[in-house]
Amino acid sequence: MPAPVDARPRDGRGYPVPAITPWEGDQPQFALTDYERSANCARQRLCSVCDTLMPRGPVWRVVGAGESEAIGGALAAGRAYRNLAPTLEGPGHRACMLYASMVCPYLARPNARRGLDARQPDDMTEHVVRGAVRGAMGAVVGFADYEFAVTATQVLFRFLDVVEFLPHDTADAHLDELRAELAGRGGGTQPR
Ligand SMILES: [Zn+2]
Repeated sequence: MPAPVDARPRDGRGYPVPAITPWEGDQPQFALTDYERSANCARQRLCSVCDTLMPRGPVWRVVGAGESEAIGGALAAGRAYRNLAPTLEGPGHRACMLYASMVCPYLARPNARRGLDARQPDDMTEHVVRGAVRGAMGAVVGFADYEFAVTATQVLFRFLDVVEFLPHDTADAHLDELRAELAGRGGGTQPR
């Protein structure tokens, strides 16, 4: 577990709670994205998982099956990948996103299934989500840059220029890469 993730508040089961997750009382709502928390991360360049500063340079996020396939296809064909559709999912550190891709069923599934309004309750149970994710391809993707817009109701992100593409089809696919990253031998910047 990356050190700043280890420092996050925990839910009743001991799972670290991401920076952008809303709370109802003492219950984190893992399926949702909190508007104010997300806006704060965007404005201050904070990681959406661990809530600490992302250094200048590339940022990472977890993409679902559809986007993973599109990025992989573009890279294989030698084309630049460009997706100008905004997403509600903010960026994070490489280590945090590698970690999140393995432990967070909501981050690992296709964005489309969450819908654009993340304030609406998620109607999928965690059990169903985990089942859907298991066979699906997703990826941890590094981007050279990102843009964001804080509207009256949403915080939207757009990611530019793929610099790293790490596809996965199992929950633990990135364990070795995460270990290397936390040991300082990874391809990205380790949060401290
Ligand atoms: Zn982080």
